[in-house]
Amino acid sequence: MNPRILRFISVTVAVLAIALLPTLISHAQFPTGTGAQSVAPAPATEKRVVVSDLAERLAKFKNVKMPFDDSAYSARERQMMLKLVDALQLADDIYWRQADPAGLKLYLSLADSKAPADISLRRYLWINGSRFDLINENQPFVGTEPAQPGRGFYPPGMTQQRIEDFVAKHPEHSKDIYNSLTVIRETKSGDLEAVPYHVAYKEFLDPMAQDLVDAAVYSDDPAFSTFLRLRSKALLTDDYYASDIAWLDLKNPKFDLILAPYETYMDELLGVKASYGGSLLIRNEEQSQKLETFQKYVPELQESLPLPVEDLPSKRGKQSPMEVMDAPFRSGDLGHGYQAVADNLPNDPRIHEQKGSKKIFFRNFMDARVEFVILPVAKAMMLPEQAAVVSGDGYLASTLMHEISHGLGPAYAQNATGRKDIREAIGPAYSALEESKADVVGMLCLAWLVDHHVLPEDKLYGYYASYVAGILRSVRFGVAEAHSRGEMMEFNFLSERGAITYDPGSKRYMVQYAKMPEAIAALGKKLLEIEARGDRQAAEQWFEHYGTMPAELKEALTRTKAIPVDVDPTFSFPDGVK
Ligand SMILES: [Zn+2]
Repeated sequence: MNPRILRFISVTVAVLAIALLPTLISHAQFPTGTGAQSVAPAPATEKRVVVSDLAERLAKFKNVKMPFDDSAYSARERQMMLKLVDALQLADDIYWRQADPAGLKLYLSLADSKAPADISLRRYLWINGSRFDLINENQPFVGTEPAQPGRGFYPPGMTQQRIEDFVAKHPEHSKDIYNSLTVIRETKSGDLEAVPYHVAYKEFLDPMAQDLVDAAVYSDDPAFSTFLRLRSKALLTDDYYASDIAWLDLKNPKFDLILAPYETYMDELLGVKASYGGSLLIRNEEQSQKLETFQKYVPELQESLPLPVEDLPSKRGKQSPMEVMDAPFRSGDLGHGYQAVADNLPNDPRIHEQKGSKKIFFRNFMDARVEFVILPVAKAMMLPEQAAVVSGDGYLASTLMHEISHGLGPAYAQNATGRKDIREAIGPAYSALEESKADVVGMLCLAWLVDHHVLPEDKLYGYYASYVAGILRSVRFGVAEAHSRGEMMEFNFLSERGAITYDPGSKRYMVQYAKMPEAIAALGKKLLEIEARGDRQAAEQWFEHYGTMPAELKEALTRTKAIPVDVDPTFSFPDGVK
């Protein structure tokens, strides 16, 4: 499965991608017969081959203008943002060269064309950040040359075998070859050579680093300035550790920045090379306060869960940072492909051990997803008056609680054989189990917060409706991936308990609000118990029993065919790729 699809199904993209890494590496076989031909675009005289259904594919991504009003900011803040946007544009320059250098050439060559076919092709190149179609397993939509599994990270035609042979002969180069921040090149003598990113991409990283130093001067937040200066240094040395620590130390910053080579989704040869990407972030005050309220109750929520107290380690103490931000500009791996609504960074296990990680919720992207994807799906499949209470607020509340709930419940599995890591005890079903636990415990917690008058009672139906609409959106893409598999199980269990019903007359699903609390509580208890006991067999049987898509749902989903699968954002800042 296309790893980038995770971005779009999941809100815990980073975590899941790490979990899937071995799969990505194992299927990274180089297709035979493509050899080491040139990656230069076909000459203009040759007829360009473009898939015939490009317009249909383009319609799957709803173009959305991301609102941003810079008049709300001081002159210094605007200067700072311009510097940060410039740095992000430079990151995009690198990203394209990593993803598909020939695709970038083609994209740039179409800039002045007024022909509708060229305009469409150019937009689809932009959406995918390459000539390869993310919603069609990276098949080329222009030209016939398949995607190199090693993209721009390795010489064209490179194979895993050749790398392994080289490393066997030159073990002293192994660390550099497998380093996530080097590109692999071929020397004249036919040997392989690892070139550090800060050398390979120097022409872009020098001005990018300068942008961050300049932005630090305009920032009125000393901690953010410190982070920017450290990140600037990191870009020029490929050592991100100190800047990642400073990044996690930011306390409720008004402005924040993601800018680094963090994700390794794109390298399908070894699964180790990181692509550049990032986002300018501005704190969303209203929703950040909601998040703080949720976090304040974490200890009580943990204690309220239906498990014996010995299975519920105390949550009184420190928590890892979370931010609800608007993203007025994104680039690189956050700018192309499926548009993440949340992220969890960095990926460095040393940082996880020492500091944890930062969870970021992209409020404006979440709103766009709700408006252009989830609401239309809800309208096509749910009772009109229930679809009407599906909202961005409700989706955000359940997404925030989902993330918080990953940290709730047992910390270890405990059974007759002793104490064990839950992931190890459960095995392959763990990802789906943990995702479902986070969903269901999250809904349980929202109900608790309403019961305890932390949240207004009249919001609860909207939370339930938004949650069910979110499930219907996820299962559109099949049930192979952990999140969708988990959500299919939730849907089937809630249906069995009568909390979701189907009306064959109107062909609409209905949330039975009165039955929801009990059904959610029962499912939450079951999933928490499976984790607490580390009961692998129970987990496998549970997903086996509840994992199949009912025929009527499959049929109902055909009504969502024309609905976009994601948004294609246009920012008020120019794209600026060179
Ligand atoms: Zn999750």
